[in-house]
Amino acid sequence: MKLSTIRKLGCALAAVGLVGSSGCKNTNFIGTKEEVRLGRDAAEEIARRHRVVTGTPEARRVAEIGARIIEHNDKRPGVPYSFKVLDLKEINAVSLPGGPVFVYRGLLDLLGRDDDALACVIGHEVGHIDARHSAKQMSQQLAANIGILVLLKGRSAQDIGSLTTSLINLSYSRSDEYEADHRGLSYAHRAGYKATGLLTFFQKLRKLEKDREQGVEILRTHPLTTARMDRARKIIEKQDYRFGR
Ligand SMILES: [Zn+2]
Repeated sequence: MKLSTIRKLGCALAAVGLVGSSGCKNTNFIGTKEEVRLGRDAAEEIARRHRVVTGTPEARRVAEIGARIIEHNDKRPGVPYSFKVLDLKEINAVSLPGGPVFVYRGLLDLLGRDDDALACVIGHEVGHIDARHSAKQMSQQLAANIGILVLLKGRSAQDIGSLTTSLINLSYSRSDEYEADHRGLSYAHRAGYKATGLLTFFQKLRKLEKDREQGVEILRTHPLTTARMDRARKIIEKQDYRFGR
């Protein structure tokens, strides 16, 4: 499909109120309201599939660090952020379009009491939400496959199920990872955490990757390259936390 056709399609969809009008300027066809609806549906589906931990010190800790991060992020009006713990042993964290963040118990076990590292990981996930990375990927799929329209309006339980699975397994590009790291470092620093927490987290992942035969879940969805580690280290050395300002 030609880019001009894609743009026209985006504008046409915006005109009928199916997506946000930002689609007329770029390839992100999905507006904030739709993003919030998709994220809410997927978060409810995740809560049906897995146990969400509530009322424990760990659940409170994740919610409190998340709340501090979003006092210092790049504000997105109309986005209801939430920070929850899933009782799953995998080392993973997931952000959904429009606000929900889930931290897996396995990741908390890996990080221990290191609030700085946890704040950097949560900051990274908020960075994906603020940069609208999953909405961008969904828009690209929309351009490639009109069938995804089903996911945007009149969704069945089955549609929500497959949407949730693809959002959980969505693999970010290298440039999306760089951007989420830069945002995450910036948010964590502004919120009063040590940005070096991200490097501690990377080192733990690297060690784990060497020690374990099985893949580490978070590395599949958020690829960790040497270039990514170097970039994060340079940002911290230069104290270049002023992302997007
Ligand atoms: Zn990421």
